[in-house]
Amino acid sequence: MPKKRKSRGRSKGAKGRDSILYCDGCGRPIPRGKAIRITRPVSIVDPQLRKELEKKGAIIARSYVTKTLCVSCAVYQGVRKVRAREERRTSARR
Ligand SMILES: [Zn+2]
Repeated sequence: MPKKRKSRGRSKGAKGRDSILYCDGCGRPIPRGKAIRITRPVSIVDPQLRKELEKKGAIIARSYVTKTLCVSCAVYQGVRKVRAREERRTSARR
């Protein structure tokens, strides 16, 4: 079954609460199950210069940055899109 949230939107029984994470965009506290985490490669070198250097055989280390975002920041930054009401019921493609 596709799930929108890990906790299916609620924490039932003795499972307690979702732990709280803080959004990297706005600092808002968000439940773990609702938070959107993305890992993206971040290049230290300018992309155009990087392409040229790689053509010459240089190996440039790429660093990965993991961000924790709330829903509104994810939408604002284009990580997730606003979906139609019916469509929202299905799990988002990761
Ligand atoms: Zn945010």
